[in-house]
This record gives sequence, C-alpha cells and structure tokens, in this order.
Amino acid sequence: MTASRIPTDLPDHIQHYIDGSFVDSVDGDTFDVLDPVTNKTYTTAAAGKKADIELAVAAAKRAFEEGPWPRMLPRERSRVLHRIADIVESRDARLAELESYDSGLPITQALGQARRAAENFRFFADLIVAQADDAFKVPGKQMNYVNRKPIGVAGLITPWNTPFMLESWKLGPALATGNTVVLKPAEFTPLSASLWAGIFEEAGLPRGVFNLVNGLGEDAGDALVKHPDVPLISFTGESRTGQIIFGNAAPFLKGLSMELGGKSPAVVFADADIEAAVDATIFGVFSLNGERCTAGARILVERSVYDDFVERYAAQAKRVKVGYPNDPATEVGALVHPEHYEKVMSYVEIGKTEGRLVAGGGRPNEFPEGNFVQPTVFADVSPDARIFQEEIFGPVVAITPFDSDEEALALANNTRYGLAAYIWTNDLKRAHNFAGAVEAGMVWLNSNNVRDLRTPFGGVKASGLGHEGGYRSIDFYTDQQSVHITLAAHSHNPTFGKN
Ligand code: NAD
Repeated sequence: MTASRIPTDLPDHIQHYIDGSFVDSVDGDTFDVLDPVTNKTYTTAAAGKKADIELAVAAAKRAFEEGPWPRMLPRERSRVLHRIADIVESRDARLAELESYDSGLPITQALGQARRAAENFRFFADLIVAQADDAFKVPGKQMNYVNRKPIGVAGLITPWNTPFMLESWKLGPALATGNTVVLKPAEFTPLSASLWAGIFEEAGLPRGVFNLVNGLGEDAGDALVKHPDVPLISFTGESRTGQIIFGNAAPFLKGLSMELGGKSPAVVFADADIEAAVDATIFGVFSLNGERCTAGARILVERSVYDDFVERYAAQAKRVKVGYPNDPATEVGALVHPEHYEKVMSYVEIGKTEGRLVAGGGRPNEFPEGNFVQPTVFADVSPDARIFQEEIFGPVVAITPFDSDEEALALANNTRYGLAAYIWTNDLKRAHNFAGAVEAGMVWLNSNNVRDLRTPFGGVKASGLGHEGGYRSIDFYTDQQSVHITLAAHSHNPTFGKN
C-alpha cells in the first residue's frame, strides 16, 4: 500500500450544511468515518438529530415559501443545473478519488459514477425546458389544462453504494422541478456528499434550497421522515428500512418513492451467446464490489450448457482482480465497512453449507486487513437456500440449473424481490415472452445493466414502490393540478333552486 492511496486534503471533520452555512450538530455529537482498506477512523462527521433536522427543514421551507427558486422560469433553473453538471464533470477525478477512498469502490468505477452524476443533472436540466404538460379539449364546451407545481421540501435519504451518484439521482429532479431539499446521506460514506454544498454555491443555487444533515438513519433519517413540513420522501436503501419508513410516514400521508433491495436473476438459455453471457454476468455481480442493487446475484443456467457455463464462470471469477480501490487495475475493491464485511462473510460461510464452492470463498491472502472479499461463486444452489433468497450485497453469486422455460421462470420469480432481470437467449419469442412474465421492474435482454435515463427505474414486490427516471421523476416531485374552463355560453350544470 502506498502513501498515494490516501487523497490529499482530506477534511478532518465533516459538517452539516444548513441555510447556506456549514454547521455542527446542535448537541455537538459526532460519529467516526472509517477508511475501508484499514478500517481506521480517518475523519469524523457531525451526527445530526431531530434538532438539526428542524433547522434544515425550516431553512428549506423558508427557501420554498419566500425564495426565488420555485418561482424561477424552467430555463433559469436549467442554467443552474447545467452549471452544476459542468462543475461535477470538471472535478470528476477528484470526486472519484474521494468516493473510492471513502467507499472502497474501484477508482475506475467511481469515475464512471461521478460522470453519471453530472449526466443526471444535465438530463433534468434539459427535461424541464422541454417539458410539455397535457391540455384536454372538448370542442366548444370545455378546456382543461395541467398546472405542474413543485410540492415543497423534499426529504432525500440515500444509501452508501455509489453515494454521490445516487444522491444526484434524487437531487437532479427534486431541484429541477423547483422543490427545496434536505438530504440525509448514508453514514458510512459522508465524504463525497460534503462536496455538494460548494458545487451548488458556485453554480448559483439560492441559499436554503439545498440542505444536508449527516447522521444515523434512526436519528437524522427518522426525524426527517417524521417531520410534518416534509411532504415527500424519496428513499433508496434496504427493503426492511423501507418498511419502517412506510410506517413512520403513514400518519402524515407523505408522498413516497422507494427504491429497495434486490436479488435479481440472470437467466442463461442454451441458445445464448455463452461467452457474452459469462462476461456480462461476471460484471453484473462483481462490479461495484457486488454492492449493487441490480446485481444479477442468481444465475439460472439451462442444464445442457450448465457444466460448461459453471466451469468457464468459475475460471473467469478467479481471475477478477481484487485490489486497492485507488489502483486503476482493480476490479473489486474493499467493501464499505467492517459491519457490512462481516455480513457478506457470514453469507460466504452459509453458502459453503448450501452450495458447491467453485471460486473464492474467503479473504484474499494478499489482504490481511480491510474489507476485502474474494469473488465467490457457489454452484448447484437450491432455490430454498438462503444464498438464493437473501440479498448479500457483495461479490457472491449463486448458480442454479433449470430444465425448461417454465422452470426458469418459476425460479426467476421465486424470491420476495423484483428489481431487475437479465435474460440471455437468441430466441426472439422466448426473450419477449419471458421479459413480460418475469416479476421485475427492469429487464435487460442479452445485455448488462445499461440504462437510458429516460426509462423508468424501479422494482416490484419487496424491491420498491413507484418508479423514478425520466418523466416519472418529474411526476413524483410535482403536483399536477388540473384546471377546467367552460367554453359554453352557459354553465352545463343543472339549475337547482330556480323558482
Ligand atoms: P439502509 O436501508 O441501511 O440505509 C439507507 C439510508 O437510510 C441511510 O442513509 C440510512 O441512514 C437511512 N436510514 C436507516 N434507517 C432509517 C430510518 N429508520 N429512518 C430513516 N432513514 C433511515 O441501506 P444501505 O445499507 O445504506 O444500502 C444498501 C441497500 O440499498 C441494499 O438493500 C440495496 O439493494 C439498496 N439499494 C437499492 C437501490 C435501488 O435503486 N433499488 C439502489 C441502491 C441501493
């Protein structure tokens, strides 16, 4: 490990950002932030609680009710958003360096995520100026049109996998549509989030529009969910946390968008391009350290090509390069946090009792410390196994054979989750019929997870509620008020009380 693994100018403390100022918690409390390669504390962050959320929500509410942002023309807001995208793009290397250091993501993948964050802002900057709302006409009688209005203070709660990119995903549309926000980033990875404030100030976002409170989910996150002046919560995280947030938001009847966990199937039929399928399914579960909601973590393979597939897959998985996150050659870095490492390692041990270990299975010898896990492959995993059913969220994959299309579909749907599905076949009818029948919010045919930003993103079953992406994000962050105008000479309503 070289000294250059550690970025220069790391902050020795990370604060909240409320009403245009960096501040500590009202009670002065902090929490430790660890470097996943050594698990040593490298900085502390302000630990927000209810009192800090109160201040942040009050600032966001003031900016919404009295400030210029919700009242600006879409073109004016769009200019600010494009400037944000320009700044993020121009700092992509620094952002990637910090993100990789804080989260353990391989540097090349963190760079891709930084650029995707810029693209999210650019996309919504373009969308709001191109936005057309519906008008409905009943010739000679009535005209109806839609007034699209920002809703108010949006509460954004985000996870630690690809933190900066996932924050941009919510910030972009929430801000583009004229809302003000309070962001509660994940406590494992507060570093890159601390850069938003400077970027937004430089781009000219008015004061109070963006607020950030660090802290634990059960403190800061909980207070945000229960704050009566926050009508919208957009949450990405575990399904269990989503259930808790659902319950806590219910008394307030809040608007909720939930992007939750997954255990997505990759289904490989015998007629597929097997080499392409091996490549893509390796990437699909080991990229982003396997800490990926849409990871194809269950690979279902048709029996006639099963042995060949497993052999090739295991051989390639063994060659996946585990390394220091800052090394450009690294393909799998260090898992985010020792708690998460313990969870993933416990599944590796469970897997040894549930399947046939064909690659990996523990800590790589070269890395005696830090959260490093060998890319791990279990074959012959039965559908009732825990490693088939439960989200591991690490570089661990289960492979299971099938004999028919019906069995493949039943296996694919045999989990509580329904986020993504990947289907590998060259049979056109089978591909489309399977896509239609599989219980997944998103399906990729003969492809990895490559997403056009205009398409809906989201899951079914325990993987989420509602879809964001493109116009669906605009719909979530706005109210569509309909206005009805009579064109008739007289009102159509029957006259009551006439003589
Ligand atoms: P998590 O649910 O533990 O935490 C997510 C966020 O919620 C954090 O900011 C946390 O502090 C906060 N939180 C925790 N408890 C809370 C509470 N009671 N009230 C309010 N906020 C609370 O999830 P994680 O471990 O950070 O992220 C990994 C999970 O996220 C995985 O399950 C993964 O599949 C999922 N994920 C889903 C998507 C998607 O788009 N569907 C994308 C990325 C990650």
